[in-house]
Amino acid sequence: MLTPESYACGQWVAPGETATEIKGPVTGEAIARAGGSALDMQAMLDFARTKGGPALRAMTFHQRAKLLKALATYLDGRKEELYALNPMTGATKRDGWVDIDGGIGTTFVIASKGRREMPDGHVYLDGDVEQLSRNGTLLGQHIAVPLQGVAVHINAFNFPVWGTMEKLAPTLLAGVPAIVKPATQTSYLTEACFRMIIDSGLLPEGAVQLIVGRTGDLLDRLTAQDVVSFTGSADTAAMLRANPKLVENSTRFVAEQDSLNAAILGADATPDSPEFALFVKEAVAEMTTKAGQKCTAMRRLIVPAPQLDAVIEAMSSKLAALTIGDPSDKANRMGALASMGQKADVLEKLAILKKEARVVHGDPDSLPADLASCAFLPPILLACDDPDSAVSVHSVEAFGPVSSLLPYRDTAHAAEIANRGGGSLVASLFTNDPAIAREVTLASAAWHGRLYVMGRASADEATGHGSPLPHMIHGGPGRAGGGEELGGVRGVLHYMQRTAIQGSPDVLTAITGTWIKGATELTGPSHPFQRTFREIQIGETIHTEPRTISLEDIEHFANFTGDTFYAHMDDAAAAANPFFPGRVAHGYLLLSFAAGLFVQPDPGPVLANTGLNSLSFQKPVSPGDSIKVRLTAKRKTQRTEEYGEIAWNATLTNQDGDQVAEYELLTMVSYER
Ligand code: NDP
Repeated sequence: MLTPESYACGQWVAPGETATEIKGPVTGEAIARAGGSALDMQAMLDFARTKGGPALRAMTFHQRAKLLKALATYLDGRKEELYALNPMTGATKRDGWVDIDGGIGTTFVIASKGRREMPDGHVYLDGDVEQLSRNGTLLGQHIAVPLQGVAVHINAFNFPVWGTMEKLAPTLLAGVPAIVKPATQTSYLTEACFRMIIDSGLLPEGAVQLIVGRTGDLLDRLTAQDVVSFTGSADTAAMLRANPKLVENSTRFVAEQDSLNAAILGADATPDSPEFALFVKEAVAEMTTKAGQKCTAMRRLIVPAPQLDAVIEAMSSKLAALTIGDPSDKANRMGALASMGQKADVLEKLAILKKEARVVHGDPDSLPADLASCAFLPPILLACDDPDSAVSVHSVEAFGPVSSLLPYRDTAHAAEIANRGGGSLVASLFTNDPAIAREVTLASAAWHGRLYVMGRASADEATGHGSPLPHMIHGGPGRAGGGEELGGVRGVLHYMQRTAIQGSPDVLTAITGTWIKGATELTGPSHPFQRTFREIQIGETIHTEPRTISLEDIEHFANFTGDTFYAHMDDAAAAANPFFPGRVAHGYLLLSFAAGLFVQPDPGPVLANTGLNSLSFQKPVSPGDSIKVRLTAKRKTQRTEEYGEIAWNATLTNQDGDQVAEYELLTMVSYER
């Protein structure tokens, strides 16, 4: 008998006397006792707010990202222990891969996004500097900083590991401590993963806590700095988000709930087309992976009316070949639902759907007695011949291996049917026609969190309709909960406050740790290219000598590079162009001369020029004009143990002091000389 424990205020807490008995879906026998421990919710919140929050916020985004990478590596090395528990949840090895490897992989991706797309500091810059005044003495910058409260994660039973990690990784990267509450039915698998997280010793005290069982009055104690991130049923979401304290404090409430996701077979697909085969394969996988208990599962299969019978035939033959049974037996492709209660719920919903749709494949009574007496169900495919008048197929979700086929007349009708779900997490479209993809997108994107367009061009690298990727947002409007998770750095920002800062360039530089144009320029003791990464200060600047550009320079550059564009070679043709007074210097010639002006040629800490961002040419440079460069250290980012990246702001001005070009130059600079 498993006894998953809570983890509160740095202590493991065993199940209490009123613990719930969890029956295994595969055998029907009791496998665990969970919950019922008397947890002090206020003490847990205080622990997170006073210990975990400050410790996490003291780190930079990069330090937290490194920590997440180390955590993912630690879990990856121990995942077999999680796979050993996985079949007890009713899940096959393949299901477990989505959950366990999926959760660890998501953590790796969020860690890497943090390193590559967030600063090595405490303030995230959201967008560019806004010029709010004529002389540039008052500027605006949107920033994001971690919330100072706690993230409460209330998770669903179907992905005990992925569901935990896909919320935990962005929360910790944001710098916010979390209290995780898994669904009781599969809490033992989440607890096993959580125990590894604690045992790793990687996280600061108070960064994460676990509630196995009920949350008591936790939500009544939340404030404006806290966030609730909920995954589960629409009913529970509606009840929890109406909590008076959450409403009073405008506490953020992110909901990701069941939705009637659609998959459209494009009007261009015929039974012998690759798109038809892809649709059938994916629809069958969606019905059977996790026994259909996936928030993203395709519930409504929208097919061209003339193809309905062919789709029924193709899907039925694949479904008939499927083996169902004990998920620990590799021969079985589909395991059990999570519990007898879940099975009863699916059968109840199926009865409602059958009033509008006919069963075209599958019979719950067809299972052998040993499976029928436990939480197993066969896949059941329905067909609803009149999707326009139907109501339940668009609103009642049987959270199991159940999907309905809906025939459509034309692409506009298909999109209309897809939108009848009232908002979904994901809709997919199987087509080889980009025009159909565009028509469906314009008619339907507003109703879905993600649109997955699949056809022969992408098939070999398909990631799957049902796989939320850490790079892409997961969540959807309306019926799907109106929430949003993941989506790279977007998912991190859900746990941060966006604040508009207005102030002088020096004020913004001090706050953001990034030199803002107009802020004080510092003069270093030597040429900046002779200074190490550690020595260079933000704001350190050099001004170069001027260099005059001659007509010979322009012609030499044109002939040398082959860029003999008329604006550089033909005075009359150039003058006829609205941008140029006559022949002008190449922009790339100016950049090359600029490098020649600011570079310090001797070997030194600068290792390489690795890129150039946001280049713009603002004024033409004519023969006889001169240019000079201002180069200022703008941003520093540690990259490896040996070197880091310095971004420089470079401006080129002419003999009249007018700016002719601006860009951001990237260099890799050694920590040591
Ligand atoms: P619930 O909405 O009942 O539970 C989801 C989570 O909320 C669980 O952790 C549950 O804990 C918790 N919870 C329930 N009531 C409260 C409460 N009063 N206070 C705090 N936490 C609470 O969903 P189920 O897991 O029972 O699944 C029911 C249906 O939800 C499914 O049939 C399906 O339609 C949908 N669903 C959607 C999912 C999705 O990914 N979008 C995933 C899973 C289910 P506990 O387990 O302890 O009750």
